[in-house]
Amino acid sequence: MNEQDTNAQRFSVSMLGLGYMGSALARAFLAKQHAVTVWNRTASKAEPLAEAGAQVAASVAEAIAASDVTVVCVSDYHGSDALLRTAEMAGRLKGKTLVQLTTGTPEEARYGAAWAAEHGVAYLDGAIMASPLEVGTPDGTLLYAGPQAVFDRYKPLLLSLGGNSVFVGESPGHAAALEGSLLSFLYASWIGFLHGAALCESEGMSIESYLSATLQMLTGLLTPLVTSAAEMAGQRSYASSVSSLNANTIALEHIVQFCDENGVDRALPACLAGALQRAASAGHGEKDLAAVFEIFRKKDSGGETD
Ligand code: NAP
Repeated sequence: MNEQDTNAQRFSVSMLGLGYMGSALARAFLAKQHAVTVWNRTASKAEPLAEAGAQVAASVAEAIAASDVTVVCVSDYHGSDALLRTAEMAGRLKGKTLVQLTTGTPEEARYGAAWAAEHGVAYLDGAIMASPLEVGTPDGTLLYAGPQAVFDRYKPLLLSLGGNSVFVGESPGHAAALEGSLLSFLYASWIGFLHGAALCESEGMSIESYLSATLQMLTGLLTPLVTSAAEMAGQRSYASSVSSLNANTIALEHIVQFCDENGVDRALPACLAGALQRAASAGHGEKDLAAVFEIFRKKDSGGETD
């Protein structure tokens, strides 16, 4: 333990759910010397944590009673609700703090926050933007939404889970909203990379050389493209100085043709081309590709500026 750790604030915290992620969270709390109590539906998963220094609760009620803060991280909100949404658990949590780290939607987060407020429970809804291996590291990123005062009070505890623990605002759905938005981008890029790998392979090219070109493109091309797209989408104004949405549609149609000629699955580029074709049909063909944002937006979000 270094001098900084010696002076660090300690908390009592109970961890409900000890899957891959819950176990990593519990270990991160233990590493920072907090008093950790754990509970899991399948009791055997608590054994390694007990060996690492955690107390094992025999029930959810016992876990909640042991600490000021309860953190829950199970598969989904249905599982979390089954554990916590009873009159007994509401009574036990009253006056304490619940940190929800189960992945969910903004609507589920709002529902959780409303339930907590109704029962006198301080509530933060978090999103873990890290793998279990990154939890507890200085670069580990977690997002939190809810009352700023609750976040500030427990920030030293929450920082144990990742050095990049970010408060995103008091709207309870905003951590889940940012997570969902980032994952929408991440999955499209990640899966797109694998589709490109299949195209390379179909021409006998190595995936290593494709990876090297991709990494260069990420900083050289993708970063300026998303920066410019953000500006245009933010202003709802899509005048292009480099290429039109129609030209990009043709580029995507060529990729679909390449797939068909080489026997590679066409669904992904065909889907992207379809979105641009819909944007063109709505009158955006001569604008920048960023105008496809108008197709994706919630339909009653207001008109564009040009
Ligand atoms: P996991 O390894 O499959 O573990 C699931 C956990 O949920 C287990 O503790 C399981 O208990 C518990 N559970 C499920 N349904 C339950 C119920 N009805 N009642 C009580 N307990 C229940 O999943 P995980 O990877 O830890 O993921 C947990 C959460 O973290 C998810 O929301 C996930 O999206 C999020 N997350 C995970 C990662 C990751 O890389 N793993 C990254 C970011 C976010 P049993 O052991 O008894 O089955």
